[in-house]
Amino acid sequence: MVGAILTQNTAWTNVEKAITALRGASLLNPRAIDRVPQAHLAGLIRPAGYYNMKAERLKQVTRFLLTHYGGSVRRMCRTELPVLRGELLEISGVGEETADSILLYAGDLPIFVVDAYTRRVLERHGLILANTRYGEIQRLFMTHLPADAALFNEYHALLVAVGKTYCRRTSDCDGCPLRYDLPNGSPLLPRP
Ligand code: SF4
Repeated sequence: MVGAILTQNTAWTNVEKAITALRGASLLNPRAIDRVPQAHLAGLIRPAGYYNMKAERLKQVTRFLLTHYGGSVRRMCRTELPVLRGELLEISGVGEETADSILLYAGDLPIFVVDAYTRRVLERHGLILANTRYGEIQRLFMTHLPADAALFNEYHALLVAVGKTYCRRTSDCDGCPLRYDLPNGSPLLPRP
C-alpha cells in the first residue's frame, strides 16, 4: 500500500529508496505511520518526490486502514471488491490507479491496473483513443480475460516492462516483442 502511494508520479527506483528509509526507521506498519509526525515522515520519503503531499496521503490511508479494519490489510481485503474499491476512492489523493494497485498488489484481488504505459501501448496499437477513460480501458482487459489476480499482475508487469524498454516517448518498435501486433497502416512485420 505504501508503494502504491509513493509511486505516484515517480520511478520505482525512487520509491525503493523511500521504502528502505521507512524500513530503517521501523515505520513500515500502520500504527507507526499513524504515530510519527508528518514532517518526519515527509523527510524520510523525500527520495520519492512530492514528499509533503505523499506523507499526508500515507497518513490518510493509514488512518482509513486503522479505523475501518484495525490496521489489517488481510481483513480489509475480505471486503467485497467493488465495496472496498469505493472506500479507497473516497480517500483524498487516492485515484483509480492507486486504488487498483492496492487491491491487486497488496490485496491479491483480481482487478486490472491501468497506467500510463498501458494507455500508451494500447493507443499506439489503435486499440483505444487518446481520451479513452480509465474505466473503459480496464473493462477492455477485464471482459476479455479470466478474473485472475496472478494473470493481471503479470500482464501489467509485462506492459510496464515493454513501456520502459521500448514504448517510450519515442518508440523503439524494431526490438519490441509487440511489433508483430502493430495495427494496419503501421510497419507490420511478418510473424516469425
Ligand atoms: S511495437 Fe512496441 S514500441 Fe512499438 S508501438 Fe508497439 S508497444 Fe510500442
